Amino acid sequence: MAPPPPPATATMAAATDHDDPHDERSSALSSTRLLVATPSHAQRSSVVVVGLGLIGSAAIRYLSAAFGSSVLAIGPPEPSVSWETYSGPFSSHYDQGRLARIADPDPVWAALAARSMARYRALEQASGIRFHEPVGSIRVSPLHDNSLYRSFEVARRHGAEQELFEFHDMLQDRFPCFQFQTGDAAIMERGEAGFINPRNLVAAQLAMAEKNGARIVRESVTEIVPMGSGVCISTDKGRSVLARKVLVCAGSYSKFLLPGDAKHLDMTTHARTVLLAEVDAREAVRLRDMPTFIWHLPKNPYLNWVYGCPPVEYPDGRVAMKVGGTAWKAADVGNSVEDLSAWFKSGGDEVEQKVLEEVLLQQLMPGLRTLSLSRKPCVVSFTAHGRPYIDAVDGDRCLSTARVFVATGGCGAAAKSSDEIGRLAALMVVHGRWPSSDMDSSAFRAVYARKGKTQSSFSSP
Ligand SMILES: Cc1cc2nc3c(=O)[nH]c(=O)nc-3n(C[C@H](O)[C@H](O)[C@H](O)COP(=O)(O)OP(=O)(O)OC[C@H]3O[C@@H](n4cnc5c(N)ncnc54)[C@H](O)[C@@H]3O)c2cc1C
Repeated sequence: MAPPPPPATATMAAATDHDDPHDERSSALSSTRLLVATPSHAQRSSVVVVGLGLIGSAAIRYLSAAFGSSVLAIGPPEPSVSWETYSGPFSSHYDQGRLARIADPDPVWAALAARSMARYRALEQASGIRFHEPVGSIRVSPLHDNSLYRSFEVARRHGAEQELFEFHDMLQDRFPCFQFQTGDAAIMERGEAGFINPRNLVAAQLAMAEKNGARIVRESVTEIVPMGSGVCISTDKGRSVLARKVLVCAGSYSKFLLPGDAKHLDMTTHARTVLLAEVDAREAVRLRDMPTFIWHLPKNPYLNWVYGCPPVEYPDGRVAMKVGGTAWKAADVGNSVEDLSAWFKSGGDEVEQKVLEEVLLQQLMPGLRTLSLSRKPCVVSFTAHGRPYIDAVDGDRCLSTARVFVATGGCGAAAKSSDEIGRLAALMVVHGRWPSSDMDSSAFRAVYARKGKTQSSFSSP
């Protein structure tokens, strides 16, 4: 097998952030030989990305802009059989809608979203795949909730087009499809805010990566073993790949794939159940101007937040609104791969479905005419500090010498921001140093679980 092409000719035009990809660290990426005995049948790559989800597909695109066919991406396709009989890893993006908005009380999340959303249109045009519906997004909270004003202010600094509604009557007049509670206030964000189709966003990123020459293998990774100056990656189909570096973007499965002590990455995985409210064509037309919504319900005993997308077509032909929530108390289903699989195969939680139905049909949209109501399980992975981990996870090795990197822990908010998360991760891997001059690496550092585990923080979608 020929060694990977030297990256001296690599360019990373789409990925620049005041960085020069031609520096000596990037050429070390593929010129360093693996210094240990390795399987003779193994393929070779400069960089392998594990996971073809939202973050992984973005990272692959940016890495492929630098390294072309020397980038290999490995991950299983969406299951084509029923989830009960599927034996591979699941994903948090098998859906038709994820909210996109800049407004967020956390300036880091707002920046990640603003940068990603600003690139949606160019990605759609370049790939020919539509994934973005800028229908606007409304964030509703009781007036006294400081996080509303904080979100407004943070988003304003990022240039978001937004309007603040502080009076219930004005809010109600402006959005008659919703029923607001007395005392509710809201931010309505326009511009690029709305929702994305996560399946199509992944498809667009992968199409661009393939155009750049990246190789994509639809298999599951079973083991990552650091060896000398590189890593050996094995898959469920018996493939072995030798790479100088590996970037793990396997969502809630990431920590189980990491070698050595990196397995103790501090991640908590919460079970989530979403409600699909199927509507007929007339109802879909009535709601065609409906923005996405996120609602703070401090008095609800079960859910802290609910959010939803307007009706969209699902692969089985149904047109449905997707509604989800953040339970005050959620089950942790991320203690093992078996736990995760069991949750996805369970079909979701009936009690959570009933609570979502009650909030949607009795409080938020009492006039909604539905044809059917069904549920789907999903998971959200929280990190110790409430932002994704984008870091080296290779024992004592620092960024410049590390072989194993991670970009994971979406905290329920990473779909809309996956392009920037993937870009930062790709640049970090290419250059062996933190790539952004205006985002502090400490916001994304990997944290390991210890006794008396750090408390996770919770962001809204
Ligand atoms: C119900 C729900 C609603 C959400 N709503 C929003 C929202 O409105 N807005 C928003 O911004 N975010 C939202 N999110 C969060 C968002 O979907 C996640 O943050 C995002 O999917 C995380 O991306 P990821 O790439 O880390 O993980 P994923 O998208 O889950 O991708 C991980 C990939 O890794 C692969 N993988 C796993 N194991 C292996 C292995 N062994 N080998 C190879 N590949 C492997 C999987 O197949 C998968 O494709 C929501 C999440 C949920 C569950």
